[in-house]
Amino acid sequence: MRTFGLITILTVVAARVLLWAGRCRHRGKLGLLPPVTAADGSRISARWYCPDCRAEWPAGIDRVGTSKTIRKFDGYDQSKAPLAAAKAEQLNKRRTAAALERAGQMPRPGSTRKKPTPFPRRQVG
Ligand SMILES: [Zn+2]
Repeated sequence: MRTFGLITILTVVAARVLLWAGRCRHRGKLGLLPPVTAADGSRISARWYCPDCRAEWPAGIDRVGTSKTIRKFDGYDQSKAPLAAAKAEQLNKRRTAAALERAGQMPRPGSTRKKPTPFPRRQVG
């Protein structure tokens, strides 16, 4: 009877050691689950996911509340309209001048490039 109890204890200890040794230690590739909003509206932060043991734990990479939102545009500023119109007109003039330059119809200001000389016309007859 005493031997039976000893064998039982040893078997339980061996089973626990095997379970402890066989558990996942997350050595494989982990998945990164993105932050999502749950059905009840609560926010679930980004989490690491182990496909072997299906465990999840917080990734700790969320920056909620730590970064300031940069507002680049807010409404319409009437005072900036004349400057924007002047810039647009200047850009249009430069585009037109570049197109004429490519077509060989107008030299750029300050350009040392000579005008193309026309071919001499042949006298027919
Ligand atoms: Zn795991």
